[in-house]
Amino acid sequence: MLTIPDYRLRLPGPTAVPERIRQATALPILNHRGAEFKAMLAECQQRLKPIFGTAHNVLIFAGSGTAMMEAALANILSPGEAVLVIVAGQFGERFVSIAKALAAEVDTIPAEWGRALDPRRVEHQLKRRDYRAVVMVHNESSTGVAYNVAEIGALLKNSPTLLVVDSVSGLAGIEMKMDDWGADIVVSASQKSLMCAPGIGLAAISPKAWTVIDRDGRVPSFFADFRRAKASLDKGETPFTPPVTLIYGLLEALRMIDEEGLANVLKRHSRLAAALRAGVQALGLELYNQQNISSSTVVAMKVPQGLEGGAIVQHLRERYRTVIAGARHPSQTGKVIRIGTMGMVSEADIITDLRHLEATLNDLGRPAPSANAGVRAALDALAIRP
Ligand SMILES: *Cc1c(COP(=O)(O)O)cnc(C)c1O
Repeated sequence: MLTIPDYRLRLPGPTAVPERIRQATALPILNHRGAEFKAMLAECQQRLKPIFGTAHNVLIFAGSGTAMMEAALANILSPGEAVLVIVAGQFGERFVSIAKALAAEVDTIPAEWGRALDPRRVEHQLKRRDYRAVVMVHNESSTGVAYNVAEIGALLKNSPTLLVVDSVSGLAGIEMKMDDWGADIVVSASQKSLMCAPGIGLAAISPKAWTVIDRDGRVPSFFADFRRAKASLDKGETPFTPPVTLIYGLLEALRMIDEEGLANVLKRHSRLAAALRAGVQALGLELYNQQNISSSTVVAMKVPQGLEGGAIVQHLRERYRTVIAGARHPSQTGKVIRIGTMGMVSEADIITDLRHLEATLNDLGRPAPSANAGVRAALDALAIRP
């Protein structure tokens, strides 16, 4: 029987999967075109809609988040069409690479990593050229910033330009109101705040986006053609064999979210992320990003002078069995470490993170300003008096 190391998985995705969800994924395979599985897909639909903030169906694919980023662009862009990508981190850069691979004309709004974006820069660029779409990342996992989707959506309200949003690491951890905010395609994946195993990609699509997807042009993808996926979904199916057991897990996760209450889930994320931020700052670490735009699903912090990010990550894993992430990008290598606060995370996880981080810094010769400084700051932020 396969065994794997027993450690605390504290990455900004994939996240630890709760026992209840893991057990669901161990159930026997059903006929994916049978009535029972259709009912499961329908229930997933009903429960996903409020999480996306949409009245429309959510397409379910086998694939990672990147597959859905690519699918979103492939379904709306013809070669030579212009697209405007907001690049504020590594995932923004990935969208640029994907758009180029699809032979689109790519303009970018480069935003300083970790900093707020002035929407007037986007507004200004929209006056200069007609774009098929503006493309943005809701939650930039590489920098720990949640960007304001509504304010970009507002710029496109009366225009044919679509808004494509990667909310892979945001959805179900940070509020998404796609219909109200004017987002046209929102993509996500199972392994982040949705607390499932990796392998499911999701795409929610507005009526405005369907007018583009449905136009005469071809979609340069067979597997990821949204038209085919929608036609099947209208019959309660997926076009090809879906990851059946992962969908059991997704359904269990969605039931758990509904039991806790979506509003409570979002509040828990923001409360725990704030506590972790307070804790790491009390340990003398600076946030990587501007505080007021901090993400609720990932905390990114700068590595203190004289230390190397990789050494912290390695020591945490080897000595304290806590697995966190380092830099996502060559320009950040050694300079940033990141901890996920997405999915099924508890107060105890945050306190343990801070204990292990303090001990690691201590072991590496950079003790905290005072003993238990991080834990105490986090307890204060959580309003827990020991
Ligand atoms: C994790 C993540 C993705 C997708 O990554 P995959 O490894 O392809 O699932 C995309 N965008 C963001 C912002 C992410 O955090």
